[in-house]
Amino acid sequence: MHEVSIASELLTTIERVARESGGRRVRAVDLVVGELAGVDADALSFAFEIVSRGTIAEGAVVTVDRAPLLVACGACGLEGPGDLEALACAGCGGSPVRVTGGRELRLTSIDIEDD
Ligand SMILES: [Zn+2]
Repeated sequence: MHEVSIASELLTTIERVARESGGRRVRAVDLVVGELAGVDADALSFAFEIVSRGTIAEGAVVTVDRAPLLVACGACGLEGPGDLEALACAGCGGSPVRVTGGRELRLTSIDIEDD
């Protein structure tokens, strides 16, 4: 379950940010996980809950937004949502397409209580 190692890395970043801003507690964390990132959102939330126990981020509400697969088609020039199964262009069905989004995993916001 590699979500645990991802959660640990996120926690390291979150703890650093919280410390630097003088926060006492992390209330909430927002993440964006791409459809192609290979991460299960529920497993990641659960893993974070476990690794954050006893830390400044214990009990933080984790919200995971899915980022859709985005592709650019070399045949018709369309850029937009792609077909996750076929990795093909939604416009003309052309394949292969270049993946331009959906692999990301990033922290978008950290809500820190500083008092
Ligand atoms: Zn196309």
